[in-house]
Amino acid sequence: MGRREELAAALATVQGRIRAACDACGRDSAEITLVVVTKNFPMEDLVHLSALGVRHIGENRSQEAENKLDRLAAVCPEARTALNVHFIGQLQTNKATSVARYADVVHSVDRIRLVEALDRGADRAERSMDVLVQVSLDGQQGRGGIDVAGLPQIVEQVARSSRLHLRGVMAVAPPGADADSAFSELAAAATVLRSYDTSARVISAGMSSDLEAAIRRGSTLLRVGNAILGTRTPTG
Ligand SMILES: *Cc1c(COP(=O)(O)O)cnc(C)c1O
Repeated sequence: MGRREELAAALATVQGRIRAACDACGRDSAEITLVVVTKNFPMEDLVHLSALGVRHIGENRSQEAENKLDRLAAVCPEARTALNVHFIGQLQTNKATSVARYADVVHSVDRIRLVEALDRGADRAERSMDVLVQVSLDGQQGRGGIDVAGLPQIVEQVARSSRLHLRGVMAVAPPGADADSAFSELAAAATVLRSYDTSARVISAGMSSDLEAAIRRGSTLLRVGNAILGTRTPTG
């Protein structure tokens, strides 16, 4: 089986899981956006995924993403144009300018200075960008994300920006935690965010191992890597 067929089969399996999870809780799978996380996998996989109809990909390291997307634009410009790029990793302020050149959505916004830096970067690139506020669940430390208490300040700063649009929240379930309770906590944070900005409706939650729990708890956007691309050891 070639790589494209392998990806097609895995993609179909994940889409089946999404439909089944939606059926089980009475949701419409059309409400759910699937972002295929391509970190650690080569540019050629983006060509295959694009040909298979994937429209959203996720990357978590700035340099890797930029190199891969530049090469894709050179080799297969129509695939590059067709893909919406989601930046999902922790982001240093000094990388914001480069991320603003290529990302359509940044999921990991968790501090005022990063909002400012992304806005400056987007302005320089003459683009606009969607942003999600990363929320830390269960008091988890050190993996990015803010407390719900910090939401209003971020909302205010995004509202002051000229190039950024606030779209919702994002979280990663803490390792070992009960995914349902973690994602319920995120749904509560999403409700708080909507009380400040009614248009911020995206809930980015759910990965290969916990997408069913995320769907049960209201996720509107899944970030799925290994279940589609496999678990090949990264070669860089
Ligand atoms: C890698 C990654 C994912 C995808 O995880 P899988 O277990 O491969 O599905 C999702 N979200 C974030 C933030 C990631 O870094």
